[in-house]
Amino acid sequence: MNAPAYEPGRLALMLNELRLPTISRLWPEFAQRSDKEGWQATRFLGALLEHELAERAKRRIERHRAESHLDPTKTFATFDFGSVPMLSKAHVTALATGDSWLEQGATILIFGPPGVGKSHLGTGIGHALIDAGYRVLFMRTSEMVQRLQAARQGLQLPATLAKLDRFDLLILDDISYVRKDQAETSVLFELIAERYERRSILITANQAFSGWDNVFPDSGMTVAAIDRLVHHSTIFELNVESYRRKKAASDKQAQRDNEKARRRRQSSEHSDNPIPERQP
Ligand code: ADP
Ligand code: MG
Repeated sequence: MNAPAYEPGRLALMLNELRLPTISRLWPEFAQRSDKEGWQATRFLGALLEHELAERAKRRIERHRAESHLDPTKTFATFDFGSVPMLSKAHVTALATGDSWLEQGATILIFGPPGVGKSHLGTGIGHALIDAGYRVLFMRTSEMVQRLQAARQGLQLPATLAKLDRFDLLILDDISYVRKDQAETSVLFELIAERYERRSILITANQAFSGWDNVFPDSGMTVAAIDRLVHHSTIFELNVESYRRKKAASDKQAQRDNEKARRRRQSSEHSDNPIPERQP
């Protein structure tokens, strides 16, 4: 029995119809090798399918990274764990694989004064989770409040909350900058209540819970929000000197040292090579 021969053009059409761009790109080269090296048909097909799947996973992760609004430069690779000795790198790395805490809809809370690396740490966790296949959205809390408030005004709050559900983790940066007098912040409470025990939230804050009364409309709501957030939570307190300030100081010191070294070099060059005496 003669198997039908396929025109390459027809194959391209079928692969396009099936949305298999990687196979479409690779098959001519693979077919040539396969014919030359006498591959079994299963090996030929398996190799092509594996490439298609791998590229698909890569494209998915790229899409997730693009939608996340995470600063691409703030990863674990650029985070110096040495400057936050109270933070266990092993603990953070374990959380960054996701798994059980994300399934529980648990919370991560990162506290500390300005400049200590709260946003960087949160962003690093976000990137690692995206690498592990999860979906993450990073947003300043004040921006999230504005967005939810606009949705409520348009009677779209439930739909907007439902859309946020597709993210395994919401990173709400700088919750303590939200002021209840600037916006109707009960929407923030609704977001927290909606995700409670289902979908995870990571929050960074300059102020400990005692300062959160300024965030929610009344103290009852503050207590209720904190209660839900801490129920299943990991709390990191970064009580160190501002990395920003420390870096600025060490940069300045390095500049001073360089300047000193340069002057020393200059003066020793002068003494090594004294200016030749002028010829009479
Ligand atoms: P916070 O959110 O606590 O105010 P950031 O995360 O914005 O602080 O950190 C301030 C700056 O210092 C950022 O540029 C950040 O990348 C850098 N930084 C902070 N902590 C570290 C660290 N441990 N390692 C590397 N860079 C850091
Ligand atoms: Mg920050």
